Amino acid sequence: MSQYILLDGEEIWIEDHPANIIYLFSLPENPDAIKEEIIQGIYARETRKPPTAIAQKVNIRKLFEMAGPEAFNLAGKAHQILFWRHTHQYCGKCGSPLIRDHAEHAMLCTACKLFFYPRINPVVITLIHKGDAILLAKRTDPGFNHFWSVIAGFVEAGEPLEEAVQREITEEVGLKVRNIRYISSQQWPFPNNLMVGFYAEYDSGEITPDGDEIAEAQWFTKDELPRIPSKVSIARHLIDSFFEM
Ligand SMILES: [Zn+2]
Repeated sequence: MSQYILLDGEEIWIEDHPANIIYLFSLPENPDAIKEEIIQGIYARETRKPPTAIAQKVNIRKLFEMAGPEAFNLAGKAHQILFWRHTHQYCGKCGSPLIRDHAEHAMLCTACKLFFYPRINPVVITLIHKGDAILLAKRTDPGFNHFWSVIAGFVEAGEPLEEAVQREITEEVGLKVRNIRYISSQQWPFPNNLMVGFYAEYDSGEITPDGDEIAEAQWFTKDELPRIPSKVSIARHLIDSFFEM
C-alpha cells in the first residue's frame, strides 16, 4: 500500500470530515497507472473514480482554505508534475516516445537522448507603492474582473526578473518604478507558474491602463481597499504584508 494524492485535472479527491480533511489515500499498487513520487512515500495519480464511498472532488485552490498551505503546496506540486508528465509523451525534436528517467527527474528520448524536465513558467507579480497607497488594477478578462489586484506578467526568454517587473508595469499601466525589491515566491500550479513577488516604489508617470489586459487601475490606501484576491494567492500576501494586516 502506498499513500496517494488523487487528482482529476485541477480537482483533488478528499474526504471532508468535521474534524479534518483527508487528502491522502492508501491504495494497492497498480503497475499500469502513471504515478509520480511527490515527496518521499507520497505519490500522485490521476483518477476519475472516487477512492472511497464518501470521497468528493474539490478544486486544489479550495484545499488552501480547507486544509492549509502545506496541503495546497503538496497537491499543487502533484498537479504540476502530473500535468508535465501527461504533456511530455513524445520528443519535441524527433517525435519518438519518451520514457521516464527517475535519476534525472525527467522524461528522456531514447532515440536522440534529449531530456525534458518539468516545465516551470516564471511570472513576476509586483505591488507598486506611493507613500501609504498601493496600485491595484482590475483586469478586462470577465473571469478576473470582480476583484482588484497587483500587476503580474510572464517573464520573457532572456529577461532578468527586475526588467520583467519594469516592462510589465510600463506596458500595463504606463508607470516607471524604482527600488524593485524581491519579497517572496509561490508556486501557482495552474498549470505550471512560479510566481515571484516584488515591491516597487512609484517613480513617475500617469496611470494609463492598457485597455487590453487592464481595464482600470488606481491608488488605494489601507482604509479604502476594494475587493482583493483571496488568501491563497501571493497577490494577497503582498498586499497584507505591505499593510501589516
Ligand atoms: Zn528525440
